[in-house]
Amino acid sequence: MSSQRSGNSEQSSGKEASLSQTYSLPKNYDQSIEEPKWQQWWQDKGIYNFDSDDTTRPTYSIDTPPPYPSGEFHVGNALNWCYFDFVARYQRMKGYNVHFPQGWDCHGLPTEVRAEKTLKVRKNDIPAPQFIEVCRKLTDEYITKMKQTIIRLGISTDWNLEYRTMDPSYYKLTQLSFVRLYKQGRIYRGEHPVNWCPRCETAIAEAEVVHLQRQGALHYMKFGGQDESIEIASTRPELLAACVAVAIHPEDPRYKGMPGRTTTVPLFGQRVPIITDEEVDSSFGTGAVMVCTFGDKMDVRWQKKHGLPVVRAISENGRITTADPRFKDLTIEEARKRIVNELKTEGRLAKTESSQQSIGTCWRCDTPVEIISRPQWFMKTREMTEAVLEWAEKLRWVPSFAKQRLIDWARSLDWDWVISRQRVFATPIPVWYCRKCSEVIIPEEQKLPVDPRRDLPSIQRCPRCGSMEIIGETDVLDTWMDSSITSAVHAGWPTHPDQFSRLFPADLQPNGLDIVRTWDYYLLVRSLALFQTAPYKTLLINGMVRGTDGRMMHKSYGNYVETEEALKKVGADAFRQWAATGGSTGYDIPFKWTEAEHGRKFLTKLWNIARFILANLPAKIPSQEPDNLTLIDRWILGSTQKLVSEVSNALDNFQFNSALEAIRNFTWHSLADDYLEAVKYRLQPDTDPDSREAAQYCLYRAIVTICKLIAPFCPHLSESVYQQLPKTEPAQSIHQSNWPIPERVLLDERTIRDGETVVEAIAAARRTKSEKGLALKLPIRKLLITAPQESLKVLQESKETILRTLKAEALELTGLPSESSAASSTLKVEIVA
Ligand SMILES: [Zn+2]
Ligand SMILES: [Zn+2]
Repeated sequence: MSSQRSGNSEQSSGKEASLSQTYSLPKNYDQSIEEPKWQQWWQDKGIYNFDSDDTTRPTYSIDTPPPYPSGEFHVGNALNWCYFDFVARYQRMKGYNVHFPQGWDCHGLPTEVRAEKTLKVRKNDIPAPQFIEVCRKLTDEYITKMKQTIIRLGISTDWNLEYRTMDPSYYKLTQLSFVRLYKQGRIYRGEHPVNWCPRCETAIAEAEVVHLQRQGALHYMKFGGQDESIEIASTRPELLAACVAVAIHPEDPRYKGMPGRTTTVPLFGQRVPIITDEEVDSSFGTGAVMVCTFGDKMDVRWQKKHGLPVVRAISENGRITTADPRFKDLTIEEARKRIVNELKTEGRLAKTESSQQSIGTCWRCDTPVEIISRPQWFMKTREMTEAVLEWAEKLRWVPSFAKQRLIDWARSLDWDWVISRQRVFATPIPVWYCRKCSEVIIPEEQKLPVDPRRDLPSIQRCPRCGSMEIIGETDVLDTWMDSSITSAVHAGWPTHPDQFSRLFPADLQPNGLDIVRTWDYYLLVRSLALFQTAPYKTLLINGMVRGTDGRMMHKSYGNYVETEEALKKVGADAFRQWAATGGSTGYDIPFKWTEAEHGRKFLTKLWNIARFILANLPAKIPSQEPDNLTLIDRWILGSTQKLVSEVSNALDNFQFNSALEAIRNFTWHSLADDYLEAVKYRLQPDTDPDSREAAQYCLYRAIVTICKLIAPFCPHLSESVYQQLPKTEPAQSIHQSNWPIPERVLLDERTIRDGETVVEAIAAARRTKSEKGLALKLPIRKLLITAPQESLKVLQESKETILRTLKAEALELTGLPSESSAASSTLKVEIVA
């Protein structure tokens, strides 16, 4: 057992009057020494390893969202990870075989954008393999940095389960899921308008479009020549070349008799039909709108509904495609200015008003998105909306309001999920085409992974027409195609069916409120399609971390906190206390240095309590409860049990703040202020050994229980103390020890109430002493307590505790008349010094 000790004993001052020199801690708690020491030890001993051979313990699996390797593990991430870790540690101590992996969602735009900045090139300027190599290298560097922060935060990740979506072993499974869904008819290729970022030059999904409010200009343009004259207000005159119709509401009296006729588009001169549609908003502008293919989603609907032609106005890199030399190849912004000027010159601009607009922008680079039609791959998600809504109801959501986010999102989706991207650093789409007949060729499952950008299919001829002209797909997959199968991949799909049945669906799906519409939605649709079930049971949703001033955290606001900075200043155990007590799960919380400092003060307090208790413990703790416990002994044991119930209950309901507050209150007040003070005299060498043993037993039980209860929040300090405590169970680490179970027999409400009376009497006497300006240590000649009649017996029985604790010689008890005792149960204490 001694080999498991931390080896701190030689640092101990050893000066305190101690009955036992066996257990001790350094005088001061120094997190910069204790925290890295335990992090290394846990890693060396494999304390957090999932045991795949153990089929007796039930499993608890956490599907940790793999972060983008951005290089910075920000405070928002840190909050999420603290939440996961509180749960992981709690479940582990409750006896579960916890599966807690850590992955990295490597692919996608963020890294490509960084690689472009690093190399000062655009993705298409250099050969793809070279570009991918730079992306991989950057990703590796960023992962190393972020992993370091996760370790410093004391997260109990099983690093044997680490995965990276850019590794062939992982993206092979992304491709497998693609192949299976394609064979099921859930994935198709088609030409549909999709959201497009002209800067990133790729399709993006609806979930990646961020709507921003902006002040813009509304231009009133005069349409018509020899045909109908009509005025149209639009914020996007640059789309005039793609105007294919003018639409009005069928009941708009201003345009009576016009439907069915034509009008002429200014500057470009094409004649377009005037059509009617119920969905035209008559109150906007002049009530007449131009339909362009494609200005927005409404245009997409109208084009389809009214069978209008498709005219492409904007190229994939955001340039105007019209043949008109005045505007050809201009950027969107340039074209807008030029067209407005031309309209003015030609007397076609009636007026311009300023207007508030909502603009869809690329989530990654803030560029306004366009709608562009080109062949893309889609997953049929619209047909799954009913199933998504049904499953949303069946799952446990913490907090419950987060469920509505998913429901609203699923209902709002107009289009299928576009899963192809026109990028480079991503999972290749495992598909070839026949150049002659366009037949789609899918690889055999055992041939995966493949990269059709350079690999050839195993067949040489098109199975349909026999042509040998086969070309590989150059598009790649949306990164959400990688990360939306994490929980199945962790569970061992498809090669470990036994483990899969134990670990899938994941018990816990923790993530931020901001990604319910992506993370939770994509995981759900993919899992329903692949496995006919939801991939998770409970969704634990956290809010955002706000800056120190309560505003959104932003580097330019001066309210930004870096996780590493916070860890350096206060240490992980204090930081984690801020994460737990900052607010209720699911709500935004500000980062508060005062809260982290408060956490640090608590650690010092607990350290000092532990040192005192350790210095007073015997070499061996009796395994049975002594039969000479006093009322106050039974009170502390009973209160500890009550605390166990309270904390377990709070943790079962993910109420981290109330769990931690209860532990801190109990430690600070019941244990330190009340019990420790009341038993100090019994720890002196001259006391009756049986009485001393009883107090030691209770102190041991209290400190070991508190360490266990606080272990999920403060894993380092609790380990430091636990390793010094006498061992009564075989656990190597506190984090493998058993979570305390409330013992009914000790949970005697009557004893707890009576104990409170004694504690209250002592506290009142101390207050009186200090009000009189007397030193607490000063002996008292007589103590006069006036208390309700029913309390007298209890106080009389605890006479020795009261007298010895207060250094008083005599106790005089007076009962309050029974009628007044109901009105006031407070004790009155007088002292004669
Ligand atoms: Zn973009
Ligand atoms: Zn063919």
